[in-house]
Amino acid sequence: MSGKAFGYPNTLNSLNLTLETLPGLMGKAMQSNEPIMSSNLHADQGDEEVRPLREATQSQIILPILIDGKAAGIVSIEKDTPDGFTEFELQSVTTLINHCAPVLANARLYHRVQTANYAKSEFVSIVSHELKNPLTSIKGYGDLLLSGLSGKLTDQQIEFVKTIHINVRRMNRLIKDLTDASRIDTGELSIEPSPMPFNTVISDTITTIQAVADKKNINIHLDMLSHSPIVYGDQERLVQVMTNLMSNACKYSPEDSNIYVAVTNGNNRVKLSVRDEGYGISSEDQAKMFTRFFRSEDPNIRKATGTGLGLSISREIIEKHGGELDFTSDLEEGTEFWFTVPLAD
Ligand code: ADP
Repeated sequence: MSGKAFGYPNTLNSLNLTLETLPGLMGKAMQSNEPIMSSNLHADQGDEEVRPLREATQSQIILPILIDGKAAGIVSIEKDTPDGFTEFELQSVTTLINHCAPVLANARLYHRVQTANYAKSEFVSIVSHELKNPLTSIKGYGDLLLSGLSGKLTDQQIEFVKTIHINVRRMNRLIKDLTDASRIDTGELSIEPSPMPFNTVISDTITTIQAVADKKNINIHLDMLSHSPIVYGDQERLVQVMTNLMSNACKYSPEDSNIYVAVTNGNNRVKLSVRDEGYGISSEDQAKMFTRFFRSEDPNIRKATGTGLGLSISREIIEKHGGELDFTSDLEEGTEFWFTVPLAD
């Protein structure tokens, strides 16, 4: 009854009673941690010690709800007639309340975990936001140095500034992934779908990923539909997903290999698959895929940097579109990731 007394007149709430300040038999039950039954409270009307909260109450069963031996709540069952309850009824409700106690304990624990989770998400989102400004400034001054505005740089200085830029980009990606992950936790990751040509997702992704593939001399083979299907999707988010799959295919493949991108159409859905000839995923690791922060221990995989967040975010984005994202893989043979999105009406 901390603050709210169910089944009592509202005027009682204004008394601001807490478990510690309960009067009468309720207070006694709280102190003793034992159930109390009274058959005729009116017989003892004058006795402050037993006076019920409701004037009309004549019989009362009071049961403390014990969690770890301490009363965490109290139940009072009342009748306006004397001798309202039998011993058997007292036993029955005592058993019932004893069963309720663990449920209440779990509910409290769940509430505490949820609060902690929310605080963690808040923390991540504040830190991410605060990190963005200094990063923008670092990148801005790097750009200024490269532009030669503050004097001509030596080749070595140019390389150093470029390394700063690469790491700023990595930090930005990490911040974006952390922000998305915390948005998923708080249910704030939203998509803004509209009818859009699916081919733009592919062309936008390839534009950014081609340079990454070129660095490892990886050939990208495109097998597109002759016409661009119109899907109901969030362009930016779909590019994010495809970029994640393509970037993984490049990162986790050896040099001079191939990546095959195919688009198919059926069942009111468009399916995009990305198949690589890379290191593949062991069956043990396959069971852990889509778990946040999971990265294979395989040294080939660990050569490339990553956060282990991309796939879990990508799957969430695709599921928000009403599609599916999954994969098949053979160790040392290669991996195929695919996702589906609904066609626009
Ligand atoms: P990241 O790539 O940043 O580690 P992801 O969530 O995108 O995070 O991927 C999680 C893990 O899944 C990778 O670290 C890797 O172990 C495995 N993985 C993903 N894509 C592939 C792929 N195409 N081939 C082999 N392993 C992959």
